Amino acid sequence: MTPPDRRRRALLLAGLSVAGLPLAAWALKPVRERPRLIIVGGGFGGAACARQLRYLMPAADITLVEPRAQFFTGPSTNAALASVCAEGDIVRGPAALEALGIRWIREAATALDPVARRLRLASGTVLDADRVVLSPGVAMRWDRIAGLDATTSERMPHAWLGDAQVSRLRERIESLRDGATIAISAPANPYRCPPGPYERASLLAWRLSARRLKRCKILLLDAKDDFTKRALFQVGWDTLYPGMVEWVPHAKGGEVLEVDARRNTLRLQNGSRLRVDLASVVPPQRAADIAVAGDLVDESGWCPVNPASFESTRHAGIHVIGDACIAQPMPKSAFSANSQAKLVALAIAAQFAGGPAPVPRLVNTCYSLLAPDYGISVGGLYGVVSDRLSTLNDGMSPLGAARELRAREAAYAHEWYEQITRDTFG
Ligand SMILES: Cc1cc2nc3c(=O)[nH]c(=O)nc-3n(C[C@H](O)[C@H](O)[C@H](O)COP(=O)(O)OP(=O)(O)OC[C@H]3O[C@@H](n4cnc5c(N)ncnc54)[C@H](O)[C@@H]3O)c2cc1C
Repeated sequence: MTPPDRRRRALLLAGLSVAGLPLAAWALKPVRERPRLIIVGGGFGGAACARQLRYLMPAADITLVEPRAQFFTGPSTNAALASVCAEGDIVRGPAALEALGIRWIREAATALDPVARRLRLASGTVLDADRVVLSPGVAMRWDRIAGLDATTSERMPHAWLGDAQVSRLRERIESLRDGATIAISAPANPYRCPPGPYERASLLAWRLSARRLKRCKILLLDAKDDFTKRALFQVGWDTLYPGMVEWVPHAKGGEVLEVDARRNTLRLQNGSRLRVDLASVVPPQRAADIAVAGDLVDESGWCPVNPASFESTRHAGIHVIGDACIAQPMPKSAFSANSQAKLVALAIAAQFAGGPAPVPRLVNTCYSLLAPDYGISVGGLYGVVSDRLSTLNDGMSPLGAARELRAREAAYAHEWYEQITRDTFG
């Protein structure tokens, strides 16, 4: 049997090729038309898709709509918050795509007519497309936690969107004193980066321990009764930070129902009120606003898609990838978005070239750091079975592994970050 870490590395390398598929011969034929392709969102899904489309369809007119020139990447955000790396190490953006002949419009899309495939930008400019790919990420559901909105959240930073909250939360972490109580909330599924809150608690514990603030307490307030890699995280916390991290599941009243950001208090579902020194409240989420404006979301708040092409099941000719789409059992991750982007590029190129549709093969590996030299991971290979996206193979770091394996996985996590960001942003 292939050892689990080798199997995951094989998945990783497969994922960084085109959707794990050998390039079909037809994909190399020049496409004679000049189709107008518009990609909305230049993060992990959108940038990877634009790049792949350029490669597969050299003659196409490709436009990327993304207002942000730079952002903090989700992956490694927790490492930057804990000063494992510098903030500057995790800044990326879509600028390098312009050198490939992709037109980058630095604006937000404000409206999408999904039937006409017509996009309106903040400046009023209107763009028409033959195909639209949306990878706009997530928006916060401010109606779910009383007292929490875009303004009050600044005092309880989620740092979940790659914006200035990352710097603010890092400063707040650095100003903590010994004996402080920190609350990190985790929303109910589905949400961006399922292991993210637990990795955040781990690396925060590492940082506080490194600063010898060993009397600090980290409360993980959860709206769920289980989470990805739970046993691995819990063994890691017991080993590395005994008594410092406490997970409060939904069954024990852990869900945050209300906050008072001025007083740093949280009301939990078990009725208790907690006053903490720092709270990082990660709100429940849904697909970003432009997906709602384009009538692409269903009652779940996310975008249903055909898993073979990630084309919207609500409107033909519009593809939705990344965190905004419904792609269970794939987690909402940068790796998933990158893999979906490559499949969609192949599917679009096939449609315009009149070639066969690609066989969907998608991959994901989620690494989490519990300390700079302690990594764990979960990985999966996905395909379509009976019209549903399904797990074909998966693997997880073994429980009870030697520290040497955890150190190796931490090194793989770093290697993965460098590869995926280069593959996506150049
Ligand atoms: C703390 C944290 C840790 C994480 N760790 C990992 C990890 O270790 N591994 C991993 O694989 N993933 C990780 N992730 C998840 C990863 O960041 C996301 O899953 C990934 O960014 C999703 O890609 P996306 O393209 O859907 O969205 P994004 O990368 O967020 O890109 C969306 C882009 O769309 C733009 N946009 C939105 N609306 C509009 C509009 N109207 N017009 C134009 N542009 C628009 C936004 O500006 C944004 O740049 C982590 C996330 C967080 C928060």
